Amino acid sequence: SAPLDVERIRGEFPILEREFDGNQLVYLDNAATTQTPEPVIDAIADYYRETNANVHRGIHHLSQEASIAYEEAHDTVAEFVGASGGREEMVFTKNTTEAENLVAYAWGLNELGEGDEVVLTEMEHHASLVTWQQIAKRTGAEVRYIEVTEGGELDMDHARELIGEDTRMVSVVHVSNALGTINPVGELADLAHENDSLIFVDGAQAVPNRPVDVEAIDADFYAFSGHKMAGPTGIGCLYGKKAILEAMEPFLYGGEMIRKVTYEESTWNDLPWKYEAGTPLIAQGIALEQAVEYLEEIGMERIQAHEEWLTEYALDRLSEFDDIEVYGPKEAGNRGGLIGFNLDSVHAHDLASIMNDHAVAIRAGDHCTQPLHDKLGTAASARASFYLYNTREEVDRLVEAVDDARQLFA
Ligand code: PMP
Repeated sequence: SAPLDVERIRGEFPILEREFDGNQLVYLDNAATTQTPEPVIDAIADYYRETNANVHRGIHHLSQEASIAYEEAHDTVAEFVGASGGREEMVFTKNTTEAENLVAYAWGLNELGEGDEVVLTEMEHHASLVTWQQIAKRTGAEVRYIEVTEGGELDMDHARELIGEDTRMVSVVHVSNALGTINPVGELADLAHENDSLIFVDGAQAVPNRPVDVEAIDADFYAFSGHKMAGPTGIGCLYGKKAILEAMEPFLYGGEMIRKVTYEESTWNDLPWKYEAGTPLIAQGIALEQAVEYLEEIGMERIQAHEEWLTEYALDRLSEFDDIEVYGPKEAGNRGGLIGFNLDSVHAHDLASIMNDHAVAIRAGDHCTQPLHDKLGTAASARASFYLYNTREEVDRLVEAVDDARQLFA
């Protein structure tokens, strides 16, 4: 039986009741964004109904309440990913992409130069790939890519070859949003540190569905997005080790991030506010805290088990068809709760469109991993991705819709 009480959980996600042409929505596009439970929707509405004010600088009651709630949200999120430094190690950004750019601009532009190397993987999301590529062009540094094997895993021998004394930054995706691969980020962190390099981990597909401990990984930076973990859009998180965040230059300048300003000079505010210029994401931060509490109450181990239970079933059912290619590792326990695949006879976009006729929402495209898709020899793939409210009956609806598409294009 399902590791989670899905019926109860589904009751908290009103959007799942939507129907299209008489078919109940089957939402399997969770790797793109997840749906929002009532407590998180309430947190947003309650904030605007009762607490809305600007933070940090107000003397009045509302501003004090908003400030405390917003600041404490940083502590809750920090603790959720095992950051013992609390708010000082947790910067709120717009999303994972902005977290990646923050480090690339604030650290990369200042620290990188000719002869330096940034090591990425062939399965990086464009959020990291394009960002480091452009920073490298501006600084004269070189980007190297750890190869992906036929089985969709990182070639760790190649990683050991690439990461060396010229490496200054290793930026790796924890769980691939295209292949589902779970990368050995702890091992990569050790490799980076043995070579005096920093490591940035893109945890956008990891934090939503498994326990993550940034200190056990020994990541220097670790980023994720609220909208992929039952939280609102417009908020992401950047964990950074305190000493590194203290030493690094700011990314954006302006109000809230300063301590003392004269016409000639400025000094910076305490962590993490030094990295949160201007009026921050107050409602989103407070709602993200609610999302974290919601997930913690259910339990991250159980959420992970539920996704593996669904993935195992989906892989098994999709293997009934010999004209379907599934990308990435083949074992459910070895991968995240998403499945990238292609049908021999049907373009991924047509497949997604037929699925949509069945009210089954999946993704089709390059999933912001164009070079990886080039390597796979396809422009696009279809992707079904699961979350805590999905059921095996919904996987059956997915498989029925896939079968329908096969027959239509046969
Ligand atoms: N990295 C990975 C692995 C992702 O899956 C995504 C979202 N598709 C991102 C980064 C970017 O996240 P966001 O769009 O929230 O910045």
